[in-house]
Amino acid sequence: MQVRNDWTLAEVEALFALPFMDLIVEAQRVHRQFHAPNTVQISTLLSIKTGACPEDCAYCPQSVRYDTGLAAEELMELEAVAEKARAAKRAGATRFCMGAAYRSPKPKDLRKVTAMIREVKALGLETCATLGMVTPAQAFELKAAGLDYYNHNLDTSPQYYEKIISTRTYQDRLDTLQAVRDAGMNVCCGGIVGMGEEPADRAGLLQTLATLPSHPESVPINQLVRVAGTPLADTAALDPFDFVRTIAVARILMPRSHVRLSAGRGEMSDELQALSFLAGANSIFYGEKLLTTGNPDTAHDQRLFERLKIVAEPPQHAHATHATTQAATGHPVPDESILARPDTGPAARDSATPEAAPLAAIAAALRESRTAAA
Ligand code: SF4
Repeated sequence: MQVRNDWTLAEVEALFALPFMDLIVEAQRVHRQFHAPNTVQISTLLSIKTGACPEDCAYCPQSVRYDTGLAAEELMELEAVAEKARAAKRAGATRFCMGAAYRSPKPKDLRKVTAMIREVKALGLETCATLGMVTPAQAFELKAAGLDYYNHNLDTSPQYYEKIISTRTYQDRLDTLQAVRDAGMNVCCGGIVGMGEEPADRAGLLQTLATLPSHPESVPINQLVRVAGTPLADTAALDPFDFVRTIAVARILMPRSHVRLSAGRGEMSDELQALSFLAGANSIFYGEKLLTTGNPDTAHDQRLFERLKIVAEPPQHAHATHATTQAATGHPVPDESILARPDTGPAARDSATPEAAPLAAIAAALRESRTAAA
């Protein structure tokens, strides 16, 4: 299977429309072709500056516009962040993500954050930051400090976006992603489901991600945490199978990416998490807090991994080549040109059988959609 960046919306919707079991089998087949089975990447997320954010993201308790009872906190001191990073490493994390509730970082704040990045990097951890919008110059500054990943989510489809955020545009987000790419960093970009969007919006989000010039290396799929005081507090809960479908379709569309179970995991049963891993999720945030919302405790996660015989993925630097190549040339490199590798997983050995049914179903669904459109 080739990594594609030209998925049409009809193809994405056809994947969502597959019978659930066919979709899961196809996602697992793709997963095993591109990733070690039974292996999950573990990141830890620390809020280094909490609350008082001027943006109006309707899901976010950190917005200054909503009364959620969240206590705002200034940017943390360097040593306090280093201590958290050392603890995360001891607990088994391989990547340490630092999140700050900014619209975009001010120069003096960016200087402090780059010092934190250097400190965390020196511990042998991969580094990730989410600081809001960044300019091309800021992205290069972060890269120079040793930042491996920058997180900036698209949140939802281009169509639904304006119902969620009014203080910055979809294009603003795409511009930040491009700045991150141009600086040679890996991109972490996904969205949130369960915000009252239509199924077409989930398809639209994934199609946008899967048609970026290069797929994000990490694709967090968040489930809305309905926080009292935010405009989305009373949103109806998403059908868990629709959440798993989103994971599975992301896995098929972006086979090389790490698909991450992120916010909302604290409200998921062990069985739902296991089903999500089966559908192709292979990354989690580990630790008791996700910026400001709850997360399963580490002991519980360790027990779940033992029960499922899942092991933590070691830090990897494979993506650096991809990003560096783009930074050097200034042009995005199509995934398939440098990332294609022979099929080596178990699914590759008997691909004829597991592949046939779901692909036939996709083809049939595509035929149906074309007939309907004609
Ligand atoms: S999601 Fe980020 S930008 Fe939006 S309100 Fe929350 S902290 Fe601010």
